[in-house]
Amino acid sequence: MHLETKLVQTGVGRDENTGAINFPVYFATAYRHPGMGQSTGFDYTRTANPTRAILEEAIATAESGDSGFACASGMAAIHTVMGLFSQGDHVLVSLDLYGGTYRLFEQVLTRYGLAFTYVDLRDASAVRTAIRSQTRAIFVETPTNPLMQITDIRLIAQIAKEHGLLTIVDNTFMTPYCQRPLELGADIVLHSGTKYLGGHNDVLAGLIVSKGAELSEKLKFLHNTIGAVLGPQDSWLLIRGLKTLALRMERHQANAWAVAQRLKDHAAVAEVFYPGLQDHTGYLTQLEQASGFSGMVSFRVRSAEQVPVILQNLQVISFAESLGGVESLCTYPATQTHADIPQEIRAYVGVCDRLLRLSVGIEHPDDLIEDLTQALDASLVAGGTVR
Ligand code: PLP
Repeated sequence: MHLETKLVQTGVGRDENTGAINFPVYFATAYRHPGMGQSTGFDYTRTANPTRAILEEAIATAESGDSGFACASGMAAIHTVMGLFSQGDHVLVSLDLYGGTYRLFEQVLTRYGLAFTYVDLRDASAVRTAIRSQTRAIFVETPTNPLMQITDIRLIAQIAKEHGLLTIVDNTFMTPYCQRPLELGADIVLHSGTKYLGGHNDVLAGLIVSKGAELSEKLKFLHNTIGAVLGPQDSWLLIRGLKTLALRMERHQANAWAVAQRLKDHAAVAEVFYPGLQDHTGYLTQLEQASGFSGMVSFRVRSAEQVPVILQNLQVISFAESLGGVESLCTYPATQTHADIPQEIRAYVGVCDRLLRLSVGIEHPDDLIEDLTQALDASLVAGGTVR
């Protein structure tokens, strides 16, 4: 069966008592045991919940994994996975990555004795050099947030296997509709379900999918023990999002491609980062390992003075801090998503004060292009002089 069909059919026919097409929300926290030592499969909602279970099974299937775990947020999912590691362990991480992940690693997990090294994972020799005897995993974001750098997942997973390391991929930007890292050799996939999987800017969620019985058992233990699980109502919202994922992703990426082309042609724009553009450094890798390019586009304007003018003039596209929903959003990483990364590191990585990130929604592309064009034009008039 095709992925599109599986996604649409999530939960259908699974509530055998009623035949409900749309799987119900089970709010019950406790479940009556049929007898001593007996269970319906559901005892206490932190351990397992019927609505959450449907979602977990659906994401595990979509990602070609063995087990799925739904968490209270993307950060909760990342934190839960990091529970696999112990004091003294070391993890290699994408140099460019979501600021919240960096904050969790540097401001929380280093206090627990974990160590992190940030490496440009596009450079295999730099990856090999950075591996130490205490290294346990490679944490990959691809495309990276916000610079859209593409890592060759197969190559990283191969290097990881040679050294007995886990490969963990944050697949938030791509979704399993466009990219399935477990099929490329990764061990764990993570999502901020808040983004494309939910798809409507109305639910905070995280997902983990693992491959292999042993790893899945460890994660099941951590998921239940840490307890940062997703509630039943939010699980239901995510199930609803999954049903339209394929349709939405097609439109997101068609719109993103059109927007990226327009940005490239505009005098106010210095650089465009979209892996679907043939001159993007990761274009061929992306063609090889993914079936699409998603809807995220970043771009650098010519001067930082243009940024407030653009953000004030956008009318259809909202200046807001998230991504992956049907509504188009524009984010300023330097003060929003990446504010917790020290300025000198941001500058070194390239998340400068001229960088804007677009989550291209599913509106009519002409309206998005018109909105961007007028805002960019205004930024030139307002003194965004070419430098
Ligand atoms: N991973 C990526 C790539 C993200 O962009 C985000 C949030 O923006 C997260 C993880 C964290 O997800 P959440 O906000 O759902 O906790």
